[in-house]
Formats: sequence, C-alpha cells, structure tokens
Amino acid sequence: MSKKDIDWANLGFGYIPTDYRFVANYKNGSWDEGAIVTDPMITMSECAGVLQYAQTCFEGLKAYTTQDGRVVMFRPDLNAERMVTSCERLEMPVFEKQKFVDAVEATVKANIDYVPPFGSGATLYVRPYMFGISPVIGVKPAEEYQFRVFVTPVGPYFKGGVRPLTIRVSDFDRAAPHGTGHVKAGLNYAMSLHAIVDAHKQGFDENMYLDPGTRTKVEETGGANFLFVTKDNKVVTPKSSSILPSITRRSLMVVAKEYLGLEVEEREIAFEEIKDFAECGLCGTAAVISPVGKIVDHGNEIAFPSGMENMGPVTQKLYDTLTGIQMGRIEAPEGWLVEIK
Ligand SMILES: *Cc1c(COP(=O)(O)O)cnc(C)c1O
Repeated sequence: MSKKDIDWANLGFGYIPTDYRFVANYKNGSWDEGAIVTDPMITMSECAGVLQYAQTCFEGLKAYTTQDGRVVMFRPDLNAERMVTSCERLEMPVFEKQKFVDAVEATVKANIDYVPPFGSGATLYVRPYMFGISPVIGVKPAEEYQFRVFVTPVGPYFKGGVRPLTIRVSDFDRAAPHGTGHVKAGLNYAMSLHAIVDAHKQGFDENMYLDPGTRTKVEETGGANFLFVTKDNKVVTPKSSSILPSITRRSLMVVAKEYLGLEVEEREIAFEEIKDFAECGLCGTAAVISPVGKIVDHGNEIAFPSGMENMGPVTQKLYDTLTGIQMGRIEAPEGWLVEIK
C-alpha cells in the first residue's frame, strides 16, 4: 500500500478515475450481492430508463484522513437514509441502508491509496448513485437498475483563501411545490444548469431560489442550503418541503446549539428579512460553509456586515467547529465519524 503520486494541494474539483468502483444490479425484483470492479465504463441499452426519462438519483460525501491518521467518512448513514427517500419518490428500488454504508466503505477501502493525507486540505469525494438501466419507452419506471459508487480525489475548496460569494435572486425556479426539491434527483440539477450558466455570465457566483409558489420566501441555491445569523447571534435556516435536507446544514445546526450554545431556528424566512441579518453562508459537503457577502435582487444589493473579505464571526466559529469535529480535533457526537479499517 502506498499513496498515489498526486499533487493533493493543487487538485481541483474534477473527475479523476481511480482503480476501483462498486456495482450492484437490480433484476427480477431483487438486488444482487454487488462487487468491487475495475471497469469505469457502463454499457446500457440506448433506451435505458435513465437516458429517456431521467430516472436517477445520487448522493455525495467525503472520506478523508483525520489529524490522528484515521480514514473516516462523515455521517454516511444520513446519505443512506436520504437515498432511500430519493428512491421512493422516483419509483426506484431502495438500496438498503446498511448495504449502502457497506458499499461506500468497501469502495473507499479499495481506493485507500487515493485518500489524501491529513493537512493537504484535499479529500476523497464519494459518489453513490442509482439509475434505471432497462429499456423504457412507454412512460413508467424501469424494471432493472444499477447502483454504483465511485470515488475521486478533490482539492481543498478554499484554495486561494476564503472568498465571500455574490449571489443573485433567480428568476428561474428550482423546485415546484410538492415536486422533487427535497430529493437528490439528477433532474433537479439538469433544469438548474441554464440558471447557473446565466448567473455566471452575469457575474454572479450562485442563484438564490425563492419559493416558486409566492416568490417571497428563501429556499436554497442549486446545490447548497442557506444559513443566516441574526444580529443577536441566532442561527436560522429556511424550512420548506422543497429544500434538499443538507447533512452539512443539519450538522451545523447541532454544532451551533450543542457546541456553541447558540439559539437555532428552522423556520420560513421571508426574503424581506434578509437585509436585517448579520451573516449568510451556503452549506454543503464540498465547502462545509461558503460565506455569502452580497445578495443582489434585480439591481438591489443587500450587503452583509461581514463584508467581502472574510467569513462572519459566527460563520467562522461554525466552520472551525464542524471541520474540527470532522478532522478529529474536537470530539464528535456519537456515530458522526465512521472509520474505514
Ligand atoms: C446535495 C445538496 C445539498 C447539500 O447537502 P449535503 O448533504 O450537505 O452535501 C444542498 N442542496 C442541494 C439541492 C443538494 O443537492
């Protein structure tokens, strides 16, 4: 066993194939055992369900090396649970929770030489996903499915240092009321691509989506949940049935309450309230928290007091505490770190 010769600190966020991946197949009503394989290519029917009607969902988590040299994953049980919810909503066969965690663990273990060393800032990104693979032409769920896990090493998120984001209020919607916004479906991303390409063209980093029903309440961005800090240091996050329940955001709310002794609230947040907040951040696996410096609503700028140089003080504390827990510097709540042995 020897680490791959990779310039860890200068890796970006891109796909680099590694040596092994996990594949399981669903046929005639049940999943096979699954296996670790070497072939990164998939051969499927031109009429596969995923290709015609986008029947697919995914997860994303990280494996990394802690300060004391353990290789761990962060709360993979929650990814397993979330994928169950996604599969149920998309009429896909559930991949059982423990089997999911085992598959993810086996894939990381097989690729252990790709787990970046502690201190590099890099991590091994883990991508479990499932899709309908049998031919489907009349509109209905596929009969056969494939569940796969691949890993790819990714570089430190804040490479040139932290840079607060400028985001715009989007005129496009991300998720319909009672739609699929709460599940991790590829289709939610397909329809957000135009909005993000357009945002970038106009010089913004991200889109803030409002609730499509009334366009008055904050939902999330294309791939991260919002956290706000009020002027009296309360941590608030939007509540809505069309937001994807971020594991990072849920963990940060626990950190705010249990580790930092802050008041936390998950509630509807009117867009009108935002100008009164002290700090804003985006939460997701990739960055943990990206600070937001400015929100632009059709030319009307809302600048947070935390500014365009640094994270706000509470955001910084949340970030330091959660990354401290992840890296083994601060004691983790029971079950948050799963060691790969
Ligand atoms: C994956 C995802 C997130 C972040 O979730 P984490 O579990 O924290 O990585 C947020 N919003 C959307 C739409 C997502 O797909």
